[in-house]
Order: sequence, then structure tokens, then C-alpha cells
Amino acid sequence: MTKIKMTTPLVEMDGDEMTRVIWQMIKDILIYPYVDLKSEYYDLGLPYRNETNDQVTIDSAEATKKYGVAVKCATITPNAARMPEYNLKEMWKSPNGTIRAILDGTVFRTPIIVKGITPYIPTWTKPITIARHAYGDVYKNTEMQVKEGCDAYLVTVDKDGNETREKIHSFKDTDGIIQGMHNTDKSISSFARSCFNFALDMKKDLWFATKDTISKKYDHRFKDIFAEIYDSEYKEKFEEAGIEYFYTLIDDAVARVIRSEGGYIWACKNYDGDVMSDMVATAYGSLAMMTSVLVSPDGVYEYEAAHGTVQRHYYKHLKGEATSTNSVATLFAWTGALRKRGELDNLPELMAFADKLEKATIDTIEEGVMTGDLYLLSTLPEKKKVGTEEFLIEVNERLKKMM
Ligand code: NAP
Ligand code: MG
Repeated sequence: MTKIKMTTPLVEMDGDEMTRVIWQMIKDILIYPYVDLKSEYYDLGLPYRNETNDQVTIDSAEATKKYGVAVKCATITPNAARMPEYNLKEMWKSPNGTIRAILDGTVFRTPIIVKGITPYIPTWTKPITIARHAYGDVYKNTEMQVKEGCDAYLVTVDKDGNETREKIHSFKDTDGIIQGMHNTDKSISSFARSCFNFALDMKKDLWFATKDTISKKYDHRFKDIFAEIYDSEYKEKFEEAGIEYFYTLIDDAVARVIRSEGGYIWACKNYDGDVMSDMVATAYGSLAMMTSVLVSPDGVYEYEAAHGTVQRHYYKHLKGEATSTNSVATLFAWTGALRKRGELDNLPELMAFADKLEKATIDTIEEGVMTGDLYLLSTLPEKKKVGTEEFLIEVNERLKKMM
């Protein structure tokens, strides 16, 4: 068999711990035998980030901007415990945060659905993709405790020193608390464009919700920016694609989500996305089955798994003990990136390969062969728990027959 050719390199961001082990296995067992992989490799493993003073993370993000598509392995975000473990010069920032800041992107998380793993909401037969606006609001707030007798104001000062003020509250007979937060038209617009682009890309409806009836300026601005951008830039494209942009109040959205069958993208303000992404992920069953893609407003894509480096399994692996770590989300990061590369470079063979690899993976699980995390959840009458590498070999058995 001749290997599938690529034309533009894929930006490959290697990572840490158990997912780094899985990364190599995926390439060896499922990619190299079929694809003449053209990748520009960046080692975002913590030792090399430390060696390069984190420059490698910045370089990998710049390369992603240049080529348009990246696939990323989970990486350690250092905390105090990691300082001696990796002998770090500094507590380096989260690579995901650095990459997101450079690409100005929005993260879309989508569960992978398989027979036998029933969502806690049984009507959710299709995936719900959550997009979280990852800028501002309560995450960049200023808070104060206020003493009884104080008046609290919101104040702005313009370039010429002119003040505008609005009273928040007079704390007449009690202490209290206040909070100031912000967002920017620029960030909201980027978020809106990323969401509209991704909806077109996936050919799925886009839902967006805020509390604009209560927050008549703040949340209303989100609603208006989305509406303006939709009407002027996306309305026709959505109609052509046969998809819908749907705006409603956040509480109505939550009620509709629960009643729905899934199959749409749900754009959330920062806090809503933080909360709802955990709810949705849990309801679909397993974090190990959740994919994640960072999409920039100008159409750059970075694919990864939503989970971390699975540290506990890695320590077992280091001790030589058998592991049964789920590689599906990392595998789907690879297929997502290869398919996108194929789409951009007009390589139908590469796109078909990504489809087959995903199908082989889902078939494996639906035929009852799965890692320990899914084994505990699966309702299939006949199921078998396999090790980390064995699972990938089983996927390859099925993939071979499709090629
Ligand atoms: P984690 O790696 O997501 O793992 C938490 C637990 O979830 C695991 O111990 C395991 O449970 C289960 N799990 C997650 N993924 C799994 C998989 N693929 N297969 C089987 N089980 C899986 O989170 P963490 O342990 O809190 O974080 C470890 C490191 O990852 C941290 O250094 C953190 O900074 C980093 N992290 C990176 C990213 C990223 O790069 N995107 C995201 C999150 C966290 P059991 O142990 O019960 O089997
Ligand atoms: Mg959260």
C-alpha cells in the first residue's frame, strides 16, 4: 500500500506524562503505517519548555498561525509540586493559555458518542458542542468588601479627564461587597466570528444565550454584537448551509438544552461556559471521550483532548504496571487535524483516512473492546477491558480492513 501524501505540514505539539506515551503509540500504530506524515514538531513537554524558557510554546503557536492547523497533546500546567519534580526555573504558564492568547481563539468541546455509554440525559442522542468565551467578565474582575456607610459607584474617566459615574449602592446599614467587571467589543466580536465560522464548518445550528432582560447594557451588548455580525456577515451563508442561529435567554436555553436531542453548538459567556461545560461533559459520561478544538476568528484550528496528562496512570506506567488509559480523545484530535489539513489542501484521501480511523475506533468500542474507564460505564452485554496499547492495536485491526 502506498502511504497517503500530505502537502502542508501539520503543527505537532507533543506533551507530557501518560498522554505523551499515548501520543507516540498513536503515531506508531495508527498514523505512520498509512500516512506519510508531514509535521512540524514542537516539544511542549515540560522539560523542553523549561529548557527554552517556554519559547517553544510561543513558537508552536506562531507556527499554527502560519500553517493553519495544529494537533496538541495534553501538557502539564506547573504547580508548586511540579517545581522540584521537574527542577523548574519558573512556574511556567499554562501552554493552553499562552496559545489561546496568541491565536485569540475560542475553545469548542464536543463529546464522542458510542453505543453502550448512555448519557445521563437519555434524549441526548447527538453531541452538544460547548463554546466558552474565554475572556473577561468575572474572571478578570475587581472586587471590594465595603463598609457600612459607604456609597459605591462605577466610574469611568475619559482621555480628557471627564468622569461619568453611576451609583451601585448605598451601604446604609450593613457591610457588603461589590464587583467590577468588563468585556470588550473586540473580544466579543472575535468570539462571535469563531462561533459562526465553526457552525458553518460543522454544519450545525448555533445557540447563544445571555441574561439581557436583566443586564440591559452588559449582556445586551453581547446579544447585539452577535446579531449585528450575524446579519451583516453570516445570515446568507447560514441559509445556504441550511443551519440556524438561535438566540434566547440563558434560563430558557438551559431548559431547552435538557429537552433537546443535541446536535448543535452552544455558545456560552465565560461563566456559563465554565459551569455548563462541566455539566455537559459529565452528562455524556467520560472526560476521556471529550474532544476540544481551539478556533481563531480568522480560521486557524488547534485540536486536542479535553482531559489532562492522566498523571496517576503515568506513575503506574513508570513503575512498569499495566495501564488502561483511554486514548480516544487524543486519537480524535489527530483525526480532526488530519481531516482539516486534508480539507484545506484538497486531499480527499487524507480526509477519508480520518473518517475511517474514527469509525474503526468507535467500532472497536461498540464491539465491546474498551479501556477501563469505559468498561465501568458501558452497558454492552459483552465487553472486555484492554490495556492502553492493546486498544490501539485492536483499532488498527479494524482500520486495516477498511484501507
Ligand atoms: P486529568 O489528566 O484529566 O485526569 C484526571 C482523572 O480523570 C484521571 O486520574 C483519570 O481518573 C481520569 N481520566 C482523565 N483522562 C483519562 C483518560 N484518557 N483515560 C482514563 N482516565 C482518564 O487531570 P489531572 O490529573 O487533574 O491533571 C493532570 C495534569 O494534566 C496536570 O498537570 C494538569 O495541569 C494537566 N492538564 C492539562 C490539560 C491540557 O493540556 N489541556 C487539561 C487539564 C489538565 P482515574 O485516575 O480515576 O483513572
Ligand atoms: Mg469548570
